[in-house]
Amino acid sequence: MRRVAKTTPLGSPPAQDPAFFSRLAERLQEELNDLEARLEEERERLSALSPLPVHWKPVRCGKEDCRRCPHGPYPYLREKREGKWRWKYLGKGWQPPEGFVRPQEFLEGLVRYKRLLRRREELLSRLEEAQAALAGRGGGRARR
Ligand SMILES: [Zn+2]
Repeated sequence: MRRVAKTTPLGSPPAQDPAFFSRLAERLQEELNDLEARLEEERERLSALSPLPVHWKPVRCGKEDCRRCPHGPYPYLREKREGKWRWKYLGKGWQPPEGFVRPQEFLEGLVRYKRLLRRREELLSRLEEAQAALAGRGGGRARR
């Protein structure tokens, strides 16, 4: 299964319906599993398109009590600047240097990858909400 639904409506569920949250949490988890598989595919595709090794680094956001740290992993290249090796984040404005055979394809892949990462953050935060709702009602039924 490779499909990732665009939206998983949270809506306004009946206030006393733990089954709703339990189904919701299950569905979100399935979607997350699909998403992880797609993220991995994108990473492999991007790595294969790059003439230089792409390093996938998990990044800590620095926010206190962030339960989703580390984020990513995000793509970096190793680059020598002023005689020192540095990490170059393949973010906004970055252009593939010479040597990239299909630079446009690579850039499009980066955009797609980051969109998937954002989607994952969104799903994780919904999952947290659903689990909190379950824990509040069902007496520790939330999965951790
Ligand atoms: Zn974080």
